[in-house]
Amino acid sequence: MKKLIVLGAGESGIGTAILGKKEGFEVFVSDRGKIGPEYRNVLEQYEISWEEGSHDAGRILEADLVMKSPGIPDGVPLVQELTGKGIPVISEIEFASRYTGGMLIGITGSNGKTTTTMLTHHLLRNGGLDVGMAGNIGKSFAGMVAEDDKEFFVLEISSFQLDGIREFRPHIAVITNITPDHLDRYDNDFERYIASKFRIAMNQTEDDYLIYDADDEVITDWLKKHPVRSVLLPFSLEKEIPQGAFVKNDKIILTIDNEQSIMSTDTLVLEGKHNVKNTMAASLVAHLVKVRKQTIRESLENFQGVEHRLEKVLKIQNVQYINDSKATNVNAVHYALDSMSAPTIWIVGGQDKGNDYTVLMPLVREKVKAVICLGIDNSKIIDAFGRVVDLMVETQSMEEAVKIAYKIAEKGDNVLLSPACASFDLFENYEDRGNQFKEAVKHL
Ligand code: ADP
Repeated sequence: MKKLIVLGAGESGIGTAILGKKEGFEVFVSDRGKIGPEYRNVLEQYEISWEEGSHDAGRILEADLVMKSPGIPDGVPLVQELTGKGIPVISEIEFASRYTGGMLIGITGSNGKTTTTMLTHHLLRNGGLDVGMAGNIGKSFAGMVAEDDKEFFVLEISSFQLDGIREFRPHIAVITNITPDHLDRYDNDFERYIASKFRIAMNQTEDDYLIYDADDEVITDWLKKHPVRSVLLPFSLEKEIPQGAFVKNDKIILTIDNEQSIMSTDTLVLEGKHNVKNTMAASLVAHLVKVRKQTIRESLENFQGVEHRLEKVLKIQNVQYINDSKATNVNAVHYALDSMSAPTIWIVGGQDKGNDYTVLMPLVREKVKAVICLGIDNSKIIDAFGRVVDLMVETQSMEEAVKIAYKIAEKGDNVLLSPACASFDLFENYEDRGNQFKEAVKHL
């Protein structure tokens, strides 16, 4: 019996363990931390052996195959030892893709993955397809393949997941954009991070498609130097695209082979230029898998949007409160501020990821009337914007931040939580931060 070791008992680890067991591996799950009780129950139920609190290196180094959770960096000694011994260390996406009969749609990028994944899934499901959504989002891909294999999978894929692929070949790949993020995991080498994202296309052939943002110079420069085999379907807000999608006079014009489809941008539920891009990407996928044009149009109009991403919470005394807690980097905030059509009170801050705020300067000058810093260390934000905005306040509680915003706000303003930072200094995660914002707004 082949031995499969699963490192890390999170969602992807547990899914892999179940699928591995079903496929006839002898499975052992090892987690250096504690394994949650609900996952422990699942392991017991499937009679999968496991350990927690440390890694039994002797046992692990006897593996035929290792699945490493995306949270574990490649540089840790155990992983180095495994690769040194020639034992394949793969990601969950790689493992699960070997056992599914479904057509794979893989979505990666620095920003917009979740939105584009959810929107694509929505379009395909409304098109009547048997489609699952997995990866970085919700349930694990491996778990779904084990329990309920689908004809189509829309997968949100992080660069860490892509680092662990070998044969994974999505029929349709999407790269939403590439901006510096998570560079700490790539020795601060942006080129390595870009290369990581492009692994999504490395096994594609002439029968496959790569959809990407043609306005993103990081992507277009890379493609010039490192051509791929797949059929290219770019999308753009700035130029006409003969094969792919672009915007002209508030209409999205989509062309694949000789088929064209035209959609209005006015009726889209998702607001902001970035969401027009996400819409073009998702619609191109839907066209490729033959969802009817009319279904795509209707579905774009009834998509509910995604929580914590420019989510409109409430309007109080004609002030709109917006939760963009998922904006954990500068680029995401750029699009958020860009889409603000009224004077904005901006709640920003948290755990800094080496942010450079220069690119936000013009937008902040134009749109932001007050900055409320919400973090343990706000010095970088104060340095960057202290002289640019009229009013700057510091706080370390969401409740207080929202109360201050309420006091400052005048009719017609927006109050935007768009932190540009990770949440771990004051909150459990970005969801917790967004939920606390929404609670505070509801209590005003
Ligand atoms: P990801 O899953 O890649 O983190 P999300 O869809 O969760 O992406 O969005 C993260 C943040 O980025 C949100 O604040 C959202 O408003 C913003 N965003 C969404 N799509 C894009 C895009 N295409 N370009 C830039 N920012 C985007």
